Amino acid sequence: MHQIDRVIAEVDRAAEELVELTRALVRIPTVNPPGEEYAACAAFLGETLARGGFDVEYVAADGRPEHTARHPRVNVVGRRRGGNGPTVHLNGHIDVVPPGDGWTVDPFAGVVRDGRVFGRGACDMKGGIAAAVGAAAAIDRAGVPLPGTIEISGTVDEESGGFAGVARLIETGRIARGRTDFVIIPEPLNVDRVCVGHRGVYWFEVTTRGRIAHGSMPFLGASAIDGMSAVLAAVRRELQPALARRETAMPVVPAAARHATINVNAIDGGQPIDGVQTPCVADRCRAVFDRRFLIEEGFAATRDEIDALVRRAAASVPGVDVELRDLLVVEPVLTPHGSPVVVALDAALRRVRGDGATLVASPGTYDHKHVARIAGIPHCVAYGPGELELAHQPDESVRIADVVSAAKVIALAALDLMNAGR
Ligand SMILES: [Zn+2]
Repeated sequence: MHQIDRVIAEVDRAAEELVELTRALVRIPTVNPPGEEYAACAAFLGETLARGGFDVEYVAADGRPEHTARHPRVNVVGRRRGGNGPTVHLNGHIDVVPPGDGWTVDPFAGVVRDGRVFGRGACDMKGGIAAAVGAAAAIDRAGVPLPGTIEISGTVDEESGGFAGVARLIETGRIARGRTDFVIIPEPLNVDRVCVGHRGVYWFEVTTRGRIAHGSMPFLGASAIDGMSAVLAAVRRELQPALARRETAMPVVPAAARHATINVNAIDGGQPIDGVQTPCVADRCRAVFDRRFLIEEGFAATRDEIDALVRRAAASVPGVDVELRDLLVVEPVLTPHGSPVVVALDAALRRVRGDGATLVASPGTYDHKHVARIAGIPHCVAYGPGELELAHQPDESVRIADVVSAAKVIALAALDLMNAGR
């Protein structure tokens, strides 16, 4: 039997094991926030990897404010070295969002029903971690000598930005340019799609300041809320239509997210609304915005446009000053066209499923940003089992056949990449 067929056969033989691994991971309730059970989950994954012949290291996010005694941020990295070929790193986040309401099964029991594993994180992305572990195990059991190095990491806090997780592995050199050649993140992508990046994020806060006066004589003051209203009106009447006309060439899904967008996250102004009210003109109002920008727009132009709009709008209300403050900037990322990691996954998908990869980009960001922007590793994609639509939903689940299928695809792609040479 050809070695590729042996690897595929080994994944099939291990199907039950992949189910049990997914269930075991789901049963560790790594809920974020606040970041429960990270150490337990990292230890479990580390022991699993060690049994599979990996050298295992634990990397805590020492020094970060969210790394506390009660909620330690512990990441795990397993490394198995073979020949001198390239290093393929498979990274999965171990954190899950809170279960929320509306479940018909226990979200942390790992219920198996109708060919699916149910539970918070089954789809996003403990099924993907199981697929990565299964891929490496199948290569080993098929007796295929490892042509390069395969790494599997389980990291924390992806759902809250990944700074104590993937970013920490990068800061400590575990994922680094020159050491790590290819990164595959098995996030839920419906088993046949490969995600090549995401739009940029610009969160900013606008503060308007006016002048307090008696509420019975508002003409003696300057209302910060009026100032903010002018800003909001300009955003809605001028900016939103302009953004809707801009479209990226990146294959963002859903297609409506191919445009630039803006959302108002929060607004707060004047007196505390539940407090005793006094007749006063509001002298202060704040709002937080979430602007998603296109790779074609770039951050500098995005910020300049916001700055000009906010200033012009606030100036229409006499006596009101405005201040713009940046809260978060995430640059857009895009895997280079023809990247070996895309080519290898496409070939593996043809072999395993008959059809090649559909390339997509994500409307929101994920850990790809750290790999591409901090580590400077361009050859990173997300690919894994699970329907993205089920992520963060009640009765989240992953199809067992998809976990098995993704494990095969990841195994073949990893072998291909390790064989290809640097
Ligand atoms: Zn995820």
